Amino acid sequence: MQTCKRCHVQIRGDKRVCPLCGSPLSGTPEKSPFPILKKRIFTRLLILRTALFLMIAVLIILPVMQYFAGRPLPWVPLAMISAVIGFADISFTLYYRNNALKTIHVQLYLGIFVCLIVDKFTGWHRWSVTWAVPAIFLGLIAGTILTGLILRAALQDFVLYILLDTLLSAVQILFLCLGWNTNPVFAVCSIVAEILFFLGILIFRWRDFKSASERYFNV
Ligand SMILES: [Zn+2]
Repeated sequence: MQTCKRCHVQIRGDKRVCPLCGSPLSGTPEKSPFPILKKRIFTRLLILRTALFLMIAVLIILPVMQYFAGRPLPWVPLAMISAVIGFADISFTLYYRNNALKTIHVQLYLGIFVCLIVDKFTGWHRWSVTWAVPAIFLGLIAGTILTGLILRAALQDFVLYILLDTLLSAVQILFLCLGWNTNPVFAVCSIVAEILFFLGILIFRWRDFKSASERYFNV
């Protein structure tokens, strides 16, 4: 136990000076009564900086490799885009780490983007628009509902996500019109299912939708 001669207080732990008056202490210091927390080595900022550095490194090194190869390397653009998407993904996940629904949405929308790009750079066989994109949109709706149920959220807390998914899945109509789908059945079923599902919510759970919209748009 250490003692301050001026304040006449006893101080536990190992202090250099009296915390009240700043005078030197007498007596023998003891082990601190409070646990010493180890500093976290991997902070969010460090992860973000590392990801940023790796992305920039890839964006610089690959064009240099391309230059020395003297011929176009077909995988270079894909690898560079992947680096940017990977960085965006890590940033979004760190930023929205407390919001499971936002994280799922950002991940899967990025997934759609990645599928389209990979398909494009690997010969454009259109498996992305024909199979992957409709499946991801269906998965988004199922995932949103499941997450809502697991988190025991009220429908009004996640109904706007379902609206967003339904509206964005309509972009597939554009793909269909452009003739990108080698087999349009799956995409058409996916769009119809989502629109029906959302209309069902509007008709049966109108109040949830209305209160969510009011809260979101401050009407
Ligand atoms: Zn003192």
